[in-house]
Amino acid sequence: MNPTLVLVGRPNVGKSTLFNRLTRTRDALVADMPGLTRDRHYGIGRLGPRPYFVVDTGGLEPAAKVGILAHMARQADQAIAEADALLFLVDGRSGITPQDKEIANRLRRTGRPVHLVINKGEGINQVIASADFHELGFGQGSVISASHGDGVGDLLDEVLGAFPLEAEGEGADEQGPRVAIIGRPNVGKSTLINALLGEDRVIAFDMPGTTRDAISIPFERDGKHYTMIDTAGLRRRGKVFEAIEKFSVIKTLQAIEQANVVILVLDASQDISEQDAHIAGFALENGRAMVVAINKWDAVDDYRRDMLKMDLGRKLNFLSWARFHYISAKAGQGISALMTSVDGAYSAAMTNLPTPKLTRVLGAAVLKQAPPRHASIRPKMRYAHQGGTNPPVVVIHGNALEYIPSSYQRYLEHAFVEAFKLQGTPLRIQFKSTR
Ligand code: GDP
Ligand code: GDP
Repeated sequence: MNPTLVLVGRPNVGKSTLFNRLTRTRDALVADMPGLTRDRHYGIGRLGPRPYFVVDTGGLEPAAKVGILAHMARQADQAIAEADALLFLVDGRSGITPQDKEIANRLRRTGRPVHLVINKGEGINQVIASADFHELGFGQGSVISASHGDGVGDLLDEVLGAFPLEAEGEGADEQGPRVAIIGRPNVGKSTLINALLGEDRVIAFDMPGTTRDAISIPFERDGKHYTMIDTAGLRRRGKVFEAIEKFSVIKTLQAIEQANVVILVLDASQDISEQDAHIAGFALENGRAMVVAINKWDAVDDYRRDMLKMDLGRKLNFLSWARFHYISAKAGQGISALMTSVDGAYSAAMTNLPTPKLTRVLGAAVLKQAPPRHASIRPKMRYAHQGGTNPPVVVIHGNALEYIPSSYQRYLEHAFVEAFKLQGTPLRIQFKSTR
């Protein structure tokens, strides 16, 4: 599992600046999708030796009791409780403040590992700064500059070095796609899991050595093998899954990260909410193949069904590449078709894209519509090859490719998706310019 780093500190110490630096990537991972609203507090870090999750808790201030501030405070508390490492940011220019001391006491009580991070350290005397913050009780700390980048690499090496890298695809006897079922509370995730696992047979469910916290369960359905990732907020109780925990973004991210295909469950009896869109956005940013299950279809009338379909088109239009299924987990309806789409999405995500065909498709797309000029420069694409699977990555080589706008990138994505019939997975394009 990817370690989760949680950024804490009083307002203005540079948390969001560090968050942006840690989650930034040079590659165009997801073209800016119309309609995709990102949750700017949760991100995937790709800087440094290995991937990790980053959470920015916002400003930790004496908590309000009600309203949006209280809600944010609860989310922050939850993130702190679930952190693998807390990065406690302080401002090296202003020196130690009473609020820093208050936060230090609070963090000490959590029992989580805390790394003191002295920010805005460019050009200051590091020895004096470290001595100043020593009284917080977390050692001398790491002096960094979030805005310039100094010291950030060393900090990551130190923090991430504590977490062993696991071998890829753990359970050796696992076969078939790894599936995670995600969605906000009460949409019917546990009902769907139980419908899936109950129907045929759960393989080696009580395998010796499987701990209570085992995170994956192999199962078979219609003669095919799958592995269910123990999903965010759900726990096995005997042979069934139950929703027993409150919703956790971090656990959702972890489930997504471990899966090949995610089933995003929505509730037909409720409006599509911002939280639904955020959860979908996390899966998309992770590049996961996806199938959308609109559950409780049995509970709504025709009028509501029509309204909902319009709403889906509007609010989740950044998922136009995914298949949508209208199901009833409770009645067991629509589940076989749903799993057929899971199979399809998995094979699309794993497709082998041969270089000659990729380059041919690229050539045809450019012939039909060339990339726009940037001032007097015309980006020139020469050839393409595959750079990865799940999600499929197409690496395009050429000149001046940094000037290709995201709208043209989407046009190319579309061309590859059409040519290779890649339904159910996002596709990524990386540009490699040579000069
Ligand atoms: P947050 O409230 O903790 O999220 O803090 P922000 O990231 O919004 O930063 C607060 C202010 O500090 C902004 O004006 C940043 O530009 C500035 N800042 C952040 N990091 C650095 C740094 O490394 N050096 C300097 N000099 N300023 C910084
Ligand atoms: P979770 O929190 O996402 O795991 O949701 P649950 O599986 O616990 O389901 C929440 C509630 O929705 C329960 O009362 C279920 O009985 C109900 N529910 C789940 N699936 C369906 C369905 O297909 N139709 C209807 N009408 N209710 C359902």
